[in-house]
Amino acid sequence: MEECLFCKIVQGEIPSKKVYEDDKILAFYDINPVAPIHVLIIPKVHIESLAKIKNEQLELMGYIFGKIRDIAKDLNLVKGYRVVNNCGQDGGQEVGHLHFHLLGGKSMTWPLG
Ligand code: 5GP
Ligand code: ZN
Repeated sequence: MEECLFCKIVQGEIPSKKVYEDDKILAFYDINPVAPIHVLIIPKVHIESLAKIKNEQLELMGYIFGKIRDIAKDLNLVKGYRVVNNCGQDGGQEVGHLHFHLLGGKSMTWPLG
């Protein structure tokens, strides 16, 4: 996926401020944060959106959520946090590479607009 922004970040063609990386995932700070802590967690493999996850990739999703838990702990988000996935057009997804937003460092309201 040569044109994919987040694949380019995975490959280091576009720099990012990394929070965590291993062979399966990358976590980096969002360039336009909407909370005091705003980290994006992505699989290194290109998956277009949550709607396009294959059944054989579900184990990877569990892995990602375990890492989100660990990253939130490492970032000391002891009072809680929010994990968001924007899926597709109505979900407000702008980058077509599956990512989860980890948002914290402030008290948030619900529901969103
Ligand atoms: P989406 O709206 O697709 O759920 O979220 C995409 C997110 O990617 C946005 O929060 C946006 O600020 C972030 N983003 C877009 N381009 C870049 C970039 O080049 N670097 C980083 N670190 N974040 C980006
Ligand atoms: Zn990609």
